[in-house]
Amino acid sequence: MRLKDKVVLITGAGRGIGREIALLFAQEGADIAICDVNLESAEITAKDIEALGKKAIGLKVDVTNSAQVEEMVNKILDKFGKIDILVNNAGITRDGLLLRMSESDWDLVLNVNLKGTFNVTKSVSKVMIKQRQGKIVNIASIIGLIGNIGQANYAASKAGIIGFTKSTAKELALRNICVNAVAPGFIQTDMTAKLPEDIKEKMLKNIPLGKFGTAQDVAKTCLFLAGGDSDYITGQVIVVDGGMVM
Ligand code: NAP
Repeated sequence: MRLKDKVVLITGAGRGIGREIALLFAQEGADIAICDVNLESAEITAKDIEALGKKAIGLKVDVTNSAQVEEMVNKILDKFGKIDILVNNAGITRDGLLLRMSESDWDLVLNVNLKGTFNVTKSVSKVMIKQRQGKIVNIASIIGLIGNIGQANYAASKAGIIGFTKSTAKELALRNICVNAVAPGFIQTDMTAKLPEDIKEKMLKNIPLGKFGTAQDVAKTCLFLAGGDSDYITGQVIVVDGGMVM
């Protein structure tokens, strides 16, 4: 058990990669707070974790709203008494070519992906500083490293997360808090299911390992960064993409 008795907060854990991280971490002995804008899916993930014999709480929180985030952190402290690990996973896409991209789609993606990561990290790091220990894992994307046509907003948000990861890693290092990022490539979830088949086929040709990634692939890397095996690693970005970016 690599996360025995740890308390973990995962944002956007109602479905997709976040849900997979929650289930894997629970199997490794952690109690989990699941935050999602969708209460129903957060509660389903929480029930599935309880079925694994661990404690869980599903909370309806919009990560863009700092007051809701603060309230969430207080509720988690009331129930569990501490937060050892934070995974900033909540993220969205609103794709479109630059000249057609609306200001609202720019703002929405930057707000959820980047400001959301800031809001939750700020609230949780206060708790971790008092504890004098913690692990923060931010879910970026290879798009934040290499860019992509039609994803200027998403690429900017994910590149921002990488800069944010490195800055907070430096600020929090002396408090015994490690901050790292995972940059997934093409992972099979609802987010990528909506892409047209011809684009998917084109992407597959650019993946040296010859297959799309799974949420499990990302969750396992998060487990490494959340557990004791990575205690001397901070400020890093681990790419999980079947070799697309090297
Ligand atoms: P997903 O299936 O769309 O799940 C995202 C989750 O985040 C959903 O449960 C969603 O709730 C929740 N969410 C959205 N806005 C939120 C908000 N404002 N506050 C709290 N929760 C919110 O996405 P995914 O594929 O699992 O992606 C998870 C993370 O991995 C994202 O950061 C994404 O950018 C990153 N990523 C994914 C891929 C990929 O290929 N899938 C690749 C690189 C990086 P609803 O159910 O209400 O929408």
